[in-house]
Amino acid sequence: MRRWQDVTITQLVNSTAAREHAERIDRALGGGTRIIEGPLAETLPAAWPQTELIISHLALGATTRILAPLLDSKRTDPGVVVVDEAGRFAVPLVGGHVGGANALADAIGEALGGTAVLTTATDAVGIPALDLLGWSYDGDLPAVTRAMLEARPVLLDRTLGFPVPPLAPSVSADAAEPVARIVVTDAAAAPQADDPALPTVVLHPKSLVVGMGCNKGTDVEELELLFHQTLAEAGLHPSSVTALTTVEAKAGELGLLQLAHRLGLRLSDHPAAELATQEVPNPSEYAQRHVGCPSVSEASVLAHGTQLVVPKQKSANATCAVGRLPVRGLLQVVGLGPGSRDLLTPRARDAIRQANLVVGYGPYVKQIRDLVRPGTEVYASKMGTEKTRTSLAIDRARAGDRVVLVCGGDPAIYAMASPVLEQGTDGIDVEIIPGVTAELAVSAILGAPLGHDHATISLSDLHTDWQVIEQRLRAAAEGDFVVTLYNPRSRTRRMHLPRALEILGAHRPPTTPVAVVQQASRQRQKVITATLADFQPDWVDMNSLVVVGSSLTRFVSTGSGERLIVTPRDYHWMTAPDAQE
Ligand code: SAH
Repeated sequence: MRRWQDVTITQLVNSTAAREHAERIDRALGGGTRIIEGPLAETLPAAWPQTELIISHLALGATTRILAPLLDSKRTDPGVVVVDEAGRFAVPLVGGHVGGANALADAIGEALGGTAVLTTATDAVGIPALDLLGWSYDGDLPAVTRAMLEARPVLLDRTLGFPVPPLAPSVSADAAEPVARIVVTDAAAAPQADDPALPTVVLHPKSLVVGMGCNKGTDVEELELLFHQTLAEAGLHPSSVTALTTVEAKAGELGLLQLAHRLGLRLSDHPAAELATQEVPNPSEYAQRHVGCPSVSEASVLAHGTQLVVPKQKSANATCAVGRLPVRGLLQVVGLGPGSRDLLTPRARDAIRQANLVVGYGPYVKQIRDLVRPGTEVYASKMGTEKTRTSLAIDRARAGDRVVLVCGGDPAIYAMASPVLEQGTDGIDVEIIPGVTAELAVSAILGAPLGHDHATISLSDLHTDWQVIEQRLRAAAEGDFVVTLYNPRSRTRRMHLPRALEILGAHRPPTTPVAVVQQASRQRQKVITATLADFQPDWVDMNSLVVVGSSLTRFVSTGSGERLIVTPRDYHWMTAPDAQE
């Protein structure tokens, strides 16, 4: 804990309420802060060269304006924290880390029962603090964190390929002249660096599974000793063990349960029949006789899907083997919605924040660029490079990365989810994260045109023969479906839309509502509604959707006189005058 009495702290106030807060803060910090009353334009410049920390009890804006011309370097400037009039928030304005303003804001937040609003790197911009990754670690955490925050080169050694969340932008596998090192390993000792004095943090990923078998009534001490000896002899770190596993018949064995409890692990088990199917290097007749399968320790780690790294070790009454989980990268195919940020789902946002690599068509990547954490790689490509994008995303996930492939709207609707799954995703986890489609956004803008059965047809004949498209248009026309036309028109495909409208018009009246929405939910959104008879294909470009009503679709007016489109659901209560609901 920091001793605030050792630091010079000046509090600037000019109201009674502020003085009260300042006095409470002073007491909470152990006394010794200087409280100065007067106009900030005078007190702040006067305090600036004489103090290590400043607490301003005036508005953030006023404080910013006055200190702006005084700023020199974050190494020498005092840290400044602004506390609001009601004492609810303490905002470190400058000098968050080096200047100590973040720590001071935390202390003030605690003293006043308020909140410290931290906006600096590891706290807010999203450089994850190494001690908060959920893995155990050893080493010089402060030195490595400092190097990341100061954007100095940090070497990342991730030999096992275990994915790590995006760290700081200066962390990389090929950092030149690194000033610090992060090693991700399940080994008990990190590999030597070229420079042995290089400050190092060793992170232990949850990569190991330990299988154990034992005689009935084996003491927990014997099991624990065997567990630790087995790992130590193999040079493996116990913190990397993620599961303890055995045969079903031993699932209630007290010693094993106590061991799992001591280690903070769950004891999982497998039926003997399942273990009997595993090919193990050291089968035993003894195990076969007692539990009905030739191996417990080795077979149970293999049944867990691991690769055996330590074959069976024995103590008087127990056996122990260790397996390593295969590295599985993750590919998330993420729908960004139609454009505006509030139609991006929280799930999509979280995926982007966690990714090591974001891949996508340029304009989509641009749409979410601000969400991408520093340290995350970005690959934005041109139109028509779907194959490169898909292969890159899959290959990098195979190498153990967390990859996000972004698509507009929903990833499965005329987008990248199908090519990804078609291409084959062996060895990686794949997750499709839905998005609000252009069709849903457009429907909401127009009212409720999709209120009854509807069909979605793309007029792009890049991937589908025009004959097939015409056939589907005819079927939708005959079925009296409301039809949404994706990819309705491009510079080279001018005749497709008029032909589509002609086919649909053959089965519905010329008064049928038709609408085009360009750039739905984007800044340049434009809506035109008309009837089949009046509709002009010229209104349409490739960033549009066209919605053609069914024979039942009609216009309605809202209270404000706006013209919307509705396809009735045929509720009988709306037409039957004597019905009650
Ligand atoms: N995956 C997307 C569709 C991609 S196909 C989705 O789920 O909506 C690309 C076509 O979608 C464009 O040619 C255009 O017809 C339509 N589109 C995509 N975004 C749009 C938007 N914001 N407004 C209008 N049409 C859009």
